[in-house]
Amino acid sequence: GEPIIAADKCIGCVKCVKACPAGALEMFYTPEELAIIASFEKHGGEEADDEELERRRRISAYKGVWVFIEQNDGEAAKVSWELTGVGRELADKLGVPLSAVIIGSGIQPLADLAFSYGADQAYLINDPVFRQYRTEPFLEAMCYLIGKHKPEVVLMGATGMGRDLAGAVATRVKTGLTADCTGLGIDEKGNLMQTRPAFGGNIMATIMCDRFRPQMATVRPHVMPMPAQRAGATGILIKESCPVSEASIFTRVLEVITEKGGKEKVDVAGAEFIVSGGRGLMAKENFAMLEELADELGGVVGGSRSAVDAGWLPQDRQVGQTGKTVRPKIYIACGISGAIQHLVGMQDSDVIIAINRDAEAPIFEVATFGIVGDLFEVIPALTAGIRNVKG
Ligand code: FAD
Repeated sequence: GEPIIAADKCIGCVKCVKACPAGALEMFYTPEELAIIASFEKHGGEEADDEELERRRRISAYKGVWVFIEQNDGEAAKVSWELTGVGRELADKLGVPLSAVIIGSGIQPLADLAFSYGADQAYLINDPVFRQYRTEPFLEAMCYLIGKHKPEVVLMGATGMGRDLAGAVATRVKTGLTADCTGLGIDEKGNLMQTRPAFGGNIMATIMCDRFRPQMATVRPHVMPMPAQRAGATGILIKESCPVSEASIFTRVLEVITEKGGKEKVDVAGAEFIVSGGRGLMAKENFAMLEELADELGGVVGGSRSAVDAGWLPQDRQVGQTGKTVRPKIYIACGISGAIQHLVGMQDSDVIIAINRDAEAPIFEVATFGIVGDLFEVIPALTAGIRNVKG
């Protein structure tokens, strides 16, 4: 029979047409309704209210990729150039300029370095108030530059300074920040894809910040490769000033004390050769064996978290998600199983040599060369072999 339509309830969703098993229903529209449907489809099926349109307009005003150049006494942190390398790729994909942001005192030479590492332009704020890093003046300067020039992407190193500044800036400019990214890319809509380990490293999550600008990310040192330097490259220098009065800053740097430690202080993250030990080493004294091998190579000793937790190594030697990210020429993993949290910290090493008595250990999946055997036999033999070669 005739279907009964409750005109006050029908919203014209057409679900009934699709649901009718006999295909007996049809929907007719008035010309006014057809006009509304056409306009809706023209907007890609998304209902764009005034607020949404305003948001899209605001976002489209942000253009360009920025890298914050971290420096100490005019010497740039290497991670800044690693980020310039990845920033170049992002900027090329987006078809926008790559800018270096250099804030400090007497730091103009860094602009030429930034150009040589791929930046098209450099924003420079040069003022004695920025001589040493302090959160407040750097926050003011960054927010001033972001407000004025509106970048779509801002990258910083996940160092002490970068972590401090990025969090403060993101909060002030009311945008999102993804910390410790291990991968950065651009999706088909031109948004930044920020990939990082999540849930204790068990999954890789790609995080988007598509409703706010700028999109901010920090990346740890040694995660991105160092780009090749282009000698003699030039760029546009944009001198800016952001007056911050010393009186308005709560913190004063009274003295700079260089970290002591001399030979004791080992920089695992910057080493070219690393011999790492894990739980398979069994005891603290067995690390002497690794020291010997590392000495032959001119390298340093690192370790897994298990080795650090056991008190066999200081925490600053830990490699992995909660330790250092390393990228040496050769990484020798001894008695390390290869848990994902360890792998994320060393898998980009040029050559990985794994020594493990368990042939199924996951470390062999990332190893360039794998030695299945007892490390107490293999390591001394390896050290002796290298000594022989060296004569
Ligand atoms: P095990 O997994 O116990 O492996 C020991 C290996 O030694 C085994 O494969 C065994 O076959 C081998 N072995 C034993 N005896 C010998 C022998 N005589 N000769 C040869 N091989 C031998 N881990 C890190 O390393 N870095 C991190 O930053 C880190 N962060 C973490 C963060 C979170 C949130 C969590 C949950 C875990 C984290 N971990 C980290 C811990 C990680 O999950 C592993 O527990 C740890 O890496 C295991 O250390 P291991 O490989 O030394 O020990």
